[in-house]
Amino acid sequence: AVAPTVPGNSDASRDVASYLHPYTNHATHEQTGPHIITGGDGIYVTDDSGHKLIEGMAGLWCTSLGFSEKRLVDAATKQLNILPYYHTFASKSTNPAIDLAEKLLEIAPVPMSKVFFANSGSEATDSAVKMVWYYHNAIGQPEKKKIISRKKGYHGVTVAAASMTGLPGNHKLFDLPIDRILHTETPHYWRDALPGEEEEDFATRLAEQLEDLIQAEGPETVGAFIAEPIMGAGGVIVPPRTYFEKIQEVLKRYDILFIADEVICGFGRTGRMFASETFRLKPDMITVAKQLSSAYLPISALFINEAIYQAVKKGSDEVGTFGHGFTYSGHPVAAAVALETLKIYEDDGIIEHVRSVMSPFQKRLKDLNKFDHVGETRGHGLIGAFELVSDKCAKTPFDPYGAAGKAVAAKCLEHGVILRALGDTVAFCPPLIITEDQIHTMFDAVEAALTEWH
Ligand code: PLP
Repeated sequence: AVAPTVPGNSDASRDVASYLHPYTNHATHEQTGPHIITGGDGIYVTDDSGHKLIEGMAGLWCTSLGFSEKRLVDAATKQLNILPYYHTFASKSTNPAIDLAEKLLEIAPVPMSKVFFANSGSEATDSAVKMVWYYHNAIGQPEKKKIISRKKGYHGVTVAAASMTGLPGNHKLFDLPIDRILHTETPHYWRDALPGEEEEDFATRLAEQLEDLIQAEGPETVGAFIAEPIMGAGGVIVPPRTYFEKIQEVLKRYDILFIADEVICGFGRTGRMFASETFRLKPDMITVAKQLSSAYLPISALFINEAIYQAVKKGSDEVGTFGHGFTYSGHPVAAAVALETLKIYEDDGIIEHVRSVMSPFQKRLKDLNKFDHVGETRGHGLIGAFELVSDKCAKTPFDPYGAAGKAVAAKCLEHGVILRALGDTVAFCPPLIITEDQIHTMFDAVEAALTEWH
């Protein structure tokens, strides 16, 4: 065994001794210990060695307003003093929950009827699954229960959400996916197009594959389709231009609900309030989280349309209640912080700001193609990634897959930038408040890291 490098009786050794980290290789964690973050300021965080680092991933695609937005601290403090907690079961309500639901409906990208609150992206997507089942039972179509998501899609980690997630690491050893959850192809043109296939033809082929799957399963058994507008954790995959138009035609043909998972894309990431606007989506339900509160407190939401609401009304009358909800659904402090976050987006013109800096961001990202081992750069708005390959022409992945991504992310860290390796793809998703100068500083550091790495 490798001798632990974590010194005894330090914060690091206490971490290793006591804390089961999410999404961490616990075999290597025992050797390396944690990277402890101690403070934040704007787009920067500081670690316990005193390094000031650009948070090029906004934490986990979420701290849109950076790490020191005083207005959010004040909104939380104010609400904690007024009413730190109350629930919203059995018709109880609070003003922050009402205000936030109303505001979200006002800015929704398509007409929506109601907003349900939860605490995480997983809870929101899991609630969407239950809503699909409940809806089809309530309207007398109890067969229509299967949900189609996509390979490499990411929808969270609770049992149904992890089943919809299309990544092997979320299924293996967990006995997932559960029945009724199916996966169709990833819209990754650069990696998966046939030789000579045009992007438009690739999109057509994927829509046909979805239709084939629906036909094979029986359209009367397929209840919903879920997709992120831009796939995040699966490698920042931006769909071909006509992909969603073609997919939505298929869903309409078979009367299949469409759930847009805007947990990463929602609230300005793509240069519009919702990516459903950017990609012209007409979802029946939308899930949001992360940038809803700039991640200062946990809160997520599920938008449902009028048809689904009517089914909830009918079903709850039948049963005596709508039997779903969390202790913290619509938590007043989280709701107050989310409401203030949405106000800041408006007051500070955050979406306009994203639109003004997304071109330099995307240009600097594209420039990374000059490196021999960058096979593809891809992105939209203020989200992007580059994929590493051992042979650029043949698009050959490094072996073992993932090691190069980790090594490059580690090099970037040495140069003062936190990025995230997703296999051999390295992702950027900086706070939306990043300035053009800071974008250049970030990419200068990444270029220095890539130069040194190979
Ligand atoms: N959906 C998408 C698109 C996500 O990116 C994530 C998290 O990254 C989730 C759902 C799950 O969110 P959470 O980690 O808050 O449960």
